[in-house]
Amino acid sequence: MPIQIDLLLLARWVVPIEPAGIVLENHAIAIRDGDIVDVLPHAEAREHFSANQTADLDEHVLLPGLINLHGHAAMSLMRGLADDLPLMTWLQEHIWPAEAKHVTAAFVRDGTLLAGAELLRGGVTCLNDMYFFPEASIESCQRLGLRLAAGLTVLEFPTNYAADADAYLAKGLEVRDRYRDTALVSFCLAPHAPYTVSDTTFERIATLSEQLNTPVHLHVHETRDEIRDNLKQYGVRPLARLERLGLLSPSLIAVHAVHLDAAEIDLLKHTGSHIAHCPSSNLKLASGIAPTAALQAAGVNIGLGTDSAASNNRLDVWTEMRNAALLAKGASGDATAVNAHQALAMATINGARALGLDRRIGSLAPGKAADLIAVRLDSPELTPCYDVASHLVYAVGREHVSHVWVNGEARVADGQLLGVERRELRQLALSWQNRLAN
Ligand SMILES: [Zn+2]
Repeated sequence: MPIQIDLLLLARWVVPIEPAGIVLENHAIAIRDGDIVDVLPHAEAREHFSANQTADLDEHVLLPGLINLHGHAAMSLMRGLADDLPLMTWLQEHIWPAEAKHVTAAFVRDGTLLAGAELLRGGVTCLNDMYFFPEASIESCQRLGLRLAAGLTVLEFPTNYAADADAYLAKGLEVRDRYRDTALVSFCLAPHAPYTVSDTTFERIATLSEQLNTPVHLHVHETRDEIRDNLKQYGVRPLARLERLGLLSPSLIAVHAVHLDAAEIDLLKHTGSHIAHCPSSNLKLASGIAPTAALQAAGVNIGLGTDSAASNNRLDVWTEMRNAALLAKGASGDATAVNAHQALAMATINGARALGLDRRIGSLAPGKAADLIAVRLDSPELTPCYDVASHLVYAVGREHVSHVWVNGEARVADGQLLGVERRELRQLALSWQNRLAN
């Protein structure tokens, strides 16, 4: 008797990510109750399963949904507001004043809806976000069906969201209590950066991270100025300070990590810390080029992030994959650094590991959640195709993503976002543009 399932996807190719480095031809994915039941050849799949719905994806490759390991989703409403500036000028003279004037729960809800639409259409099924009013981000991601690791942001200085570090933490923990059992939602403690968070607050966050078994999502070693200022104020570089405060551990997601010496790479490896590598943002703000080849050689786990639409300006993990692979080669002088399969792992399973979600997402394997995407490979710019993994990293763009499922639910079909009308997104974006431009 065939086993009853909800959905059978018959694909030309499957890149499961685990086991590493393989491409399966003419394989199917069987899905039931939101989970992957099996990955197997077409003929066996037809024999073993009876599906309520079957999709023939004869020109497509299936792979896990991409994981954006670092973003500030709501800032999609500030895309292009201030460009061609260094980090601190951009932050202090443009972004922080605009945030002080405009950021409310409604801003975050609308901005996250807009960003989430862009992410899903581009094949991203999970976002690690850091912003204010996390309950508003959760609301929009739930509406879109996008998996979210919501950052509980902490700063020392007041914003529209909270007055001081204690208030940020109290609000964040209250949101965590309210949504901790909600499907598709997890949390990170998100102290903003070494230059905006005090030692006392960092120590408290290290303790909370251990008690709550929650990752810490933090910008660190982004620019040379950050390191210089930290040296001046604390007598040590930021990573040494964080080590002293108990932050370096398998719970840490170190965002950027552009400027590292050999001892710091070793320290990240030995403490089991993870990196969220954001190559486009680092280039645009002229922060520098992260030593990805050396980090990879040392065995540090590296995921990929877009950062915000205000510093990138695309929420496009395909671009990050390509840039990560190209920059690692160019900067190290080694063309074998970050090969296509390694770049794909960065955009999927490595991000899942950093978030502590690798038992559920990041690869296509029985028992994992059916977070997956189909990419169509029959357009002229993708033909011929000798090596699917190579195409995915060096030739494919987000416009080639045709279908997206999260937890087995279709969220994009034939390139169209399901559930939210394009007209609604356009109207809310234009209404915020009117306010921010004035
Ligand atoms: Zn950032």
